[in-house]
Amino acid sequence: MATIQSSTGPIDTGDLGFTLMHEHVRVGWGPMYQQYPEMFDREHELERAVSRLKAAKEAGVQSVVDLTPIDLGRDVTLIAEASRRSGVNIIAATGIYYTETPFHFRMREDREMTELFVRDITQGVSTTGIRAGVIKCATEPVMHEMNERVLRASARAAKETGVPICTHTFPANRTGLDQQRVFKEEGLDLSRTVIGHSDDSDDISYLEAIIDGGSYCGMDRIGLPRPRTSEQRADMVAALVEKGYASRITLSHDSCSNFHWAPEGLIDTAVPTWRLTHIPLDFIPLLKERGVSDTAIKQMTVTNPRTLFGG
Ligand SMILES: [Zn+2]
Repeated sequence: MATIQSSTGPIDTGDLGFTLMHEHVRVGWGPMYQQYPEMFDREHELERAVSRLKAAKEAGVQSVVDLTPIDLGRDVTLIAEASRRSGVNIIAATGIYYTETPFHFRMREDREMTELFVRDITQGVSTTGIRAGVIKCATEPVMHEMNERVLRASARAAKETGVPICTHTFPANRTGLDQQRVFKEEGLDLSRTVIGHSDDSDDISYLEAIIDGGSYCGMDRIGLPRPRTSEQRADMVAALVEKGYASRITLSHDSCSNFHWAPEGLIDTAVPTWRLTHIPLDFIPLLKERGVSDTAIKQMTVTNPRTLFGG
């Protein structure tokens, strides 16, 4: 076992237990909080997150990886408080998505990006003392030059600190393979990488290529009915497990307790399955119906996250 940094302090990987590898306490657009703070009710958002996390805990979830990067409105103190109040371990992230190309780094050296990620991981985010335990990065439907720079900076920070990388992809364009190429060129151990949103793919050959390349397949949009229903996602996970790949799969929802891209309540009504309890309560039964064993389920939900974090 190893000691890693959660948002509330060090924990042993042996205590991670059932872990959802890609979720969000809050996702939004940073400039809105900065310029219109009166529009956001922090206590209300905390209560929403805590009630969802508590429901997840009741359903057996012990740990959540919050993959909110710098440019999706990351707030590590909100994450830490949600963890404290709910009793669910939450690991916070550093890294950059692509809502805008990260203007700050556009004409700076990539070394500065790496240094910032390393600082978040080894010292803490800003002055909070809360340390990131994972790096998030992303590629647009076609890999933009700036995406590639972020991937390279992320790989260098991961090599320096030993934390895993979890990505956002556009599987229809097989962008997970582009990410693996860049990581490999940087000399990163791909067994410390999760190629995210892999369950949006209906192409098993693409997923096998990711696994053959050495990464985990992040089946982490479970509960979002588009582009694939939970039944279709379960069919794919079961097919991969049948081929012997349970040790290369992680499960999650990519759910957001507070999702600012829509008015509050809209997503809850439109997509009721997109929440932290869908996997333990609904999706695991779908896997069992398809013949996936308890051993394989434990492998995907407990053992693989622990191994990824170095346990
Ligand atoms: Zn996400």
